Amino acid sequence: MKNESLSISNPDKNKIDFIEKVAIGLITVGLLILALSFLNIKLNAVIFLPLSLSSILLGTIVYSRRIYLKKLPGIKNDAVWFRSLSSRGLIAWSIGITLTGFYVLIYWFPRILGLGVNGNSNTGLAALFDPLSYFFEGKPASQWFVYGTLYTLCITSLGYKFILKYRHNRYQIIRTIVVMLSQLFFAYLIPEILEGLNSDKAYFAKDIKNMWPLNYYFFDSWHIDNMRNGGTMGMIYLVWGIALFLIVTPIVTYFVGKRWYCSWVCGCGGLAETAGDSFRQLSSKKVSAWKFERYMIHGVLLFAVLMTSAVLYNYFTNTTTIFGLDTYTWIRQPYGFLIGAAFSGVIGVGFYPMLGSRVWCRFGCPLAAYMGIFQRFKSRFRITTNGGQCISCGNCSNSCEMGIDVRAYAQKGENIVRASCVGCGICSAVCPRGVLKLENGDEKNRINSNPISIGNNSAKLNM
Ligand code: SF4
Ligand code: SF4
Repeated sequence: MKNESLSISNPDKNKIDFIEKVAIGLITVGLLILALSFLNIKLNAVIFLPLSLSSILLGTIVYSRRIYLKKLPGIKNDAVWFRSLSSRGLIAWSIGITLTGFYVLIYWFPRILGLGVNGNSNTGLAALFDPLSYFFEGKPASQWFVYGTLYTLCITSLGYKFILKYRHNRYQIIRTIVVMLSQLFFAYLIPEILEGLNSDKAYFAKDIKNMWPLNYYFFDSWHIDNMRNGGTMGMIYLVWGIALFLIVTPIVTYFVGKRWYCSWVCGCGGLAETAGDSFRQLSSKKVSAWKFERYMIHGVLLFAVLMTSAVLYNYFTNTTTIFGLDTYTWIRQPYGFLIGAAFSGVIGVGFYPMLGSRVWCRFGCPLAAYMGIFQRFKSRFRITTNGGQCISCGNCSNSCEMGIDVRAYAQKGENIVRASCVGCGICSAVCPRGVLKLENGDEKNRINSNPISIGNNSAKLNM
């Protein structure tokens, strides 16, 4: 077909070549196997599970290589506002609805995914994952095992795509490798293997980097008891979990900002950075969104503190009520439903294609709020801006998944010290003028409000 585009740069190709078709075919086969299992069509899990997972992984790798390696390394955010996937078009809505539905099933209707209850065997999608679950844990797959496996697959396969896309930037390459390995080992393989080795003990912890208050059940009485009764490993989890929150996080955040967690090791951040990359530009840059963000995220942190205080009070006093009200009914259960499931999962990931990839991290994560307080007031981290070089192209603001209007700071030559910045570094990676630099330095002059100067004036004022 003749190419009728009048664009002299023709950024959008309208054909896919043979190898790309094969890659798309592989991904489709992998997804089709998952869909057929979901529809309860019985497949030999020993054959079809590896086939499905490897087809998706291989297809994504081949497709990404075809797409990105034929272009020169460099900024690739062309046409993001014209594609269906990245600009809330039909593809985006379809993915959003599918993801949202999947989260609703996982949290509230796992039986529809085939989870066997009351001694019944798994069927459907859950049964497809049984062999792998038996391999690691010696028991049938739970919905969380299915979820964890697919989650890890998303981060590793789309992490590879991310590395190719941002391969001109060393920070992005190293950061994404760490994100992928953190998910694969710390969040998936190590906990699954430990669970298999401690199958006689009650569940006490999963991801060793998932700390309170993100892990909101950490101080639940059942969880504390399970850790206390979990032998040496259980005690390590208990002590590590408390130290990670109370000591490690403030210290590391002081030195490098919250990026060490939010953009390098966190599972939620990992998914947002890799699978969510196509949607990062959708975050609202409005001042009203910024205001809402501050009330919302600190409100959730307060909610988490109150809920955990009530739970701990009950644990130490051996009671189940507080102020005459049942703690579980009045505060613990609402928190789990509203924040732990509906916000972090259903909205946080299901709405990626509509609201951007960091809705949860920006508006809801109590751990991000906690680290944000250190980052804003007591940290060496900042993004410096060489305002005189800024051409106001807006690439940086467009790519900021946290809704920060980076350009406004760059135009004024003002350091960015926002509590919400997750230090992903994409603003810097997509800046064509090298204006932005993520730095850890002296706290003196870190906050340099510069209300009106523009362009070259900024450079002079900063000298
Ligand atoms: S300001 Fe830059 S580093 Fe911070 S979240 Fe936005 S894009 Fe990432
Ligand atoms: S800082 Fe860089 S990316 Fe942002 S507006 Fe200026 S030139 Fe463009």
